Amino acid sequence: MDRKNIISLLKRFSLTVKSYRPLEEAIVTSGGVDVKEIEPKTMESKLIKGLYFAGEVIDVDCYTGGFNLQTAFCTGVLAGEN
Ligand SMILES: Cc1cc2nc3c(=O)[nH]c(=O)nc-3n(C[C@H](O)[C@H](O)[C@H](O)COP(=O)(O)OP(=O)(O)OC[C@H]3O[C@@H](n4cnc5c(N)ncnc54)[C@H](O)[C@@H]3O)c2cc1C
Repeated sequence: MDRKNIISLLKRFSLTVKSYRPLEEAIVTSGGVDVKEIEPKTMESKLIKGLYFAGEVIDVDCYTGGFNLQTAFCTGVLAGEN
């Protein structure tokens, strides 16, 4: 019973963000290019032919731990190859 109460308490536990850490400490940005406007197999813009995107300029951000770097590497290789 205690375990269920603890789970219930944790699930309802909410925090209010009061402020952000300074930009100098930021780890990832979510860029301004909508991922839906990019052809995923080539990273070419669906709006402007011959324009390719990679990395943080795309509005994708992930948890830290290598996922953002992986995104940058993969999209960079695709954009470069195409
Ligand atoms: C402190 C810190 C810790 C991080 N830790 C992690 C982590 O642990 N795991 C993870 O997955 N991600 C981490 N990240 C995020 C990850 O580093 C980025 O998501 C990734 O490097 C983005 O790659 P990018 O090529 O899109 O951009 P960037 O790596 O920012 O490359 C952009 C490049 O363009 C250059 N540039 C800018 N303007 C111009 C211009 N006008 N002309 C020519 N060149 C220009 C810049 O100098 C820069 O070299 C971290 C980021 C920070 C800041």
